[in-house]
Amino acid sequence: MGGHISRSFIHELINRVDLVDLIDSYFSLRKTGQNYIATCPFHHEKTPSFTVNPEKQFYYCFGCGAQGNAINFLMNYAHFEFVEAVHELASQVGMEVQYEQGNASVSITLPTSLYDLLTQVAKYYQQQLRQSPIAITYLKKRGLTGEIARDFGLGYAPTGWNNILTTCGSTLEAKTRLLEMGLIKKNAKGDYYDLFRNRIMFPIVDGRGRVIAFGGRLLQDNSKEPKYLNSPETRLFQKGGELYGWYWARQNRPLQHLVVVEGYLDVVTLAQYGIKNVVATLGTAVTHEHLTRLFRTVPEIRFCFDGDLAGQKAAWRTLERVLPFLQEGQQVGFIFLPPGHDPDSLLRQEGISKWNDCVEKTLPFSNFLFDTLQQQVDMSHLDGKARLAKLAKPLLKQLPTGSYYQLLMIKELSKLTQIDETRLTNDLNDLIEPQPINSSIPNKTLREYSLVDQAIIYLLHNPTLSQYVTYPNEKLLGLPDEHIKLFLQLIELIKLNPKIKTLGTISYEVDQHATEYKNIINQLGLVSQGSLFTNHLHMIDMDEEFKDIIKRLNEEYNKQIVFPTKNETQTDEKKEHGY
Ligand SMILES: [Zn+2]
Repeated sequence: MGGHISRSFIHELINRVDLVDLIDSYFSLRKTGQNYIATCPFHHEKTPSFTVNPEKQFYYCFGCGAQGNAINFLMNYAHFEFVEAVHELASQVGMEVQYEQGNASVSITLPTSLYDLLTQVAKYYQQQLRQSPIAITYLKKRGLTGEIARDFGLGYAPTGWNNILTTCGSTLEAKTRLLEMGLIKKNAKGDYYDLFRNRIMFPIVDGRGRVIAFGGRLLQDNSKEPKYLNSPETRLFQKGGELYGWYWARQNRPLQHLVVVEGYLDVVTLAQYGIKNVVATLGTAVTHEHLTRLFRTVPEIRFCFDGDLAGQKAAWRTLERVLPFLQEGQQVGFIFLPPGHDPDSLLRQEGISKWNDCVEKTLPFSNFLFDTLQQQVDMSHLDGKARLAKLAKPLLKQLPTGSYYQLLMIKELSKLTQIDETRLTNDLNDLIEPQPINSSIPNKTLREYSLVDQAIIYLLHNPTLSQYVTYPNEKLLGLPDEHIKLFLQLIELIKLNPKIKTLGTISYEVDQHATEYKNIINQLGLVSQGSLFTNHLHMIDMDEEFKDIIKRLNEEYNKQIVFPTKNETQTDEKKEHGY
C-alpha cells in the first residue's frame, strides 16, 4: 500500500492553492504593484525584500534568496514535512490527495496529524479541569471565571505519571507522536511518563488557532519542580517565534497597539479585566522574529516590566533589540509596574485603576533610552555630556539609517549634549556598520546573460513559451552552452506536463528530479522575478522576443556547422539533420 503522491496531483495542487492567502494567514502581506511584500521571515531585515508573486504562485526574497512554492513555504516556514504540507494544502482547497500505485491512482486517508493529537490532549486537560475541585478553586482564587478559562482553553494535568500516556497514547504510533511533541518522556529504564503533572495547563496556539504546545503552572508550589514548565521545542513549536495570546489578541482587530508581558497568567488575567490586546513571550527575551511579527500587525508596541532592577535590565535588553525596527510611524513604549509586581499580581492586589495608572505613564522609547544613559553619567560636567554622546552613538547608529526617527534622536542628543547635530550625524556615519547579507541576484541586465540563459529566464517567467520550441531538438542540443541541456529538459518537462504553468511547479520538479540544476534554476528564476526583468517586459512582446532568441540559437548552431572543427562531425550532423 501507499506509494508516491502523484506528480500531476502536486502540479494541480500548487496551481489551485492561493499562495498569497496561504502566506497571509501566517503574517500580513502588503500589495505593491503586481506583487505582495513583507519583511522576510527567513532573515532579519529592516526593509521588506520578501516578495510573493500571485500570478506565478512563487515567493522569493531578494535579501537571502529564500524562495519556493506553497509546499516549500509550509516546509520552511511552518516546519511541515513534505507529505504533511501536501495534505495540509489539499485540505485547504478541498482536494483529496492522489497516490500513484502502478497506473491506478488511489487516495488514502489523512494520517492523524500532530495537530489533531494536540487538540485531543488539550480536550483531555479541559475535561480534567471540570472534574477537579482543587484546580477550579485555584483559578477562582486567582479571580478567573469559567468563561475566561474556556476562552483560553485552560485545563488541568492531574497528578500521576501516566494519564496522558494511557488516554492518548494507546498505539505505538500515538506514543511516538506524544514523545515527539514532548508530552511524555522516557526514563533510564525505558518506561514512559507524563511531562505535565498537577499543573494548570495553558494551550499554546499558533496564529491560526491550532494547539502547538502547552505551558503548565504548578498547582502547589514546591521546591522540587519548576513553577512554570513549557513543552520542549518541537517542529511545531519554536519558543523564540511564538507569542502566547497572539491568536486571541488578533480576534480584536483592528488593534492600535499590543502590550507584551512576560507570562501566560498575565495575559489571561488582563483578559479577565477586559484588556485583550496582550501577548506574552514564552520564557525568552523578545526576539527578532517576535518583533517582525508584532510590527507587521500594529504600529505601536508597549513592553511591560516589573519596576525592580531586574525588570529595568530586561527592559534595556529589549530596547537594544528594538532599535533596528524603528521605522517611521512605529512606536515603542515601556510600562513599568511597581517593584515586585507582574500584571497578574498588580491586578489582583491593587485593581484595574492601578494598572491604568501605570499604562498612562508609559515611557516613550526615546525617554527610556536617554534617561537610562543619563543615569550613568554626570550631566553637570562637560565630560559627562561627552560621555553621553559616546554611549548614545552606537545605539542611534542601529536605528534605520537616515530615518526621521534617527534624525529626531540625533536632534535630542544634540540638545542634551550641546554637540552640533551635523557633527553627531557625521560621527554616526563614520561608525562601522556590519555588512548586510548581500543580495543573491547578480546585478546584470538581461542582455548580459548568455542566449540560452535568456531563453531559460523567459521560460521560467512564462512556461507556455515552450510551444515555440520543437522537441526533441537535437540541433539545439549540439550547442556548446553549458545550460542548453537544462533548457531542453525544461522544455520537455513543460510539454509532458501541461499542468506546469508557474515557476512554483517548475521549481518543485527541479527539486525532485534535477537537483544538479537547482542552483541555476534558482538564480535564473530570481532574475525572471526581478525588477530588471519585469521592467524590461513592459517594452517588448515576450512571445516575439523569445522566438527571436530561439531563432538566434538556431543560427548559432548553423554557424557551427559552417565552421566545424572536425570534418567528420560535419558530415554526420549534416546527414542527421537532412543537410
Ligand atoms: Zn530573506
